[in-house]
Amino acid sequence: MRAGAETWEEMRKFVFEKAEMGLPFRVSVYAADEAAAQAGAAAAFARIAELNAVMSDYDSDSELSRLARTTGRAVPVSPALWTVLTHAHLFAERSDGAFDITVGPLVSLWRRARRKQELPDAALLAEMRGRVGFKKLRLDAEHRTAELLAPDMRLDLGAIAKGFACDEALAVLKKRGLPRALVGGGGDMAVGDAPPDQPGWRIEVAPLDVPDAPPPQTVLLKNCGLATSGDIFQRVEISGQRYSHIVDPRTGIGLTDHSLVTIIAPDGMTADALSTTVSVLGPERGLKLIEETPGTAAHLVRQPGAKLEFRESARWRDVPKVGAAP
Ligand code: AMP
Ligand code: MG
Repeated sequence: MRAGAETWEEMRKFVFEKAEMGLPFRVSVYAADEAAAQAGAAAAFARIAELNAVMSDYDSDSELSRLARTTGRAVPVSPALWTVLTHAHLFAERSDGAFDITVGPLVSLWRRARRKQELPDAALLAEMRGRVGFKKLRLDAEHRTAELLAPDMRLDLGAIAKGFACDEALAVLKKRGLPRALVGGGGDMAVGDAPPDQPGWRIEVAPLDVPDAPPPQTVLLKNCGLATSGDIFQRVEISGQRYSHIVDPRTGIGLTDHSLVTIIAPDGMTADALSTTVSVLGPERGLKLIEETPGTAAHLVRQPGAKLEFRESARWRDVPKVGAAP
């Protein structure tokens, strides 16, 4: 394994892409030779695949799916799943249940509604709401077990697992002597050390595919996570109303206040969870949560009327940007 002692001039950037977790994932890494970069990226992708086998809700054999079939029994969980479940619980508590990984039954219901172009039946909606609630998932820290307290629950890590997978893949690269790396998948990424001779990785924030959009900001990031959530311009309508794939667990309804939320946080998992949380909470309560969470910053785009509306948290102003005064 390489010690990473090369001079910067000798380093080159390598980019690899691979479908994992049903999404294109990308590893960008600076290395002295292609073989080291390639081996590093392969190990990083392998880690993501490993985590998918733990956390997928599509794979009925995943650890998560198996856990979902053990109602009323405390079952030991793997270290990776434990990390994600405990962090998810924390975000659920801090957001009064706006973020909730037990939202699975409602997510399925709204997926079906969008496919059929038909609002969910009220009785069915009420039944699904009864299966949801983060307090119905009991975590025992002493024994590292999880227990589902209600029947027919369904856990959905779609709002947190990708960010965690990016963090883990980045850690794999770092361990192999490749700390100048970035791992991204979907709207989530984990950023390592800066590229050689540069203050950070250049990331374009929320480029908007609409005619009157201002040019997007480009931030300069290192050693942190970034996530973007929302579907402001995704036109899936039922009876003239658009319902998001993000559901408010407290009402059971897919979000109709559409936004695009970008979060920068100390790691990818935190950014991922918070981007979904702020989408549910909306700008007022969402930005308050960000101000109260050390090391995090938020940028929001909404379209309440005809015009686009932009909001930022206080710490967003301190994020280094391309073209801004240092
Ligand atoms: P993201 O793209 O990170 O915002 O995650 C969205 C995904 O998270 C959805 O497709 C659902 O699988 C899941 N999800 C939806 N609503 C919630 C919620 N309120 N809390 C946690 N996860 C959610
Ligand atoms: Mg998320």
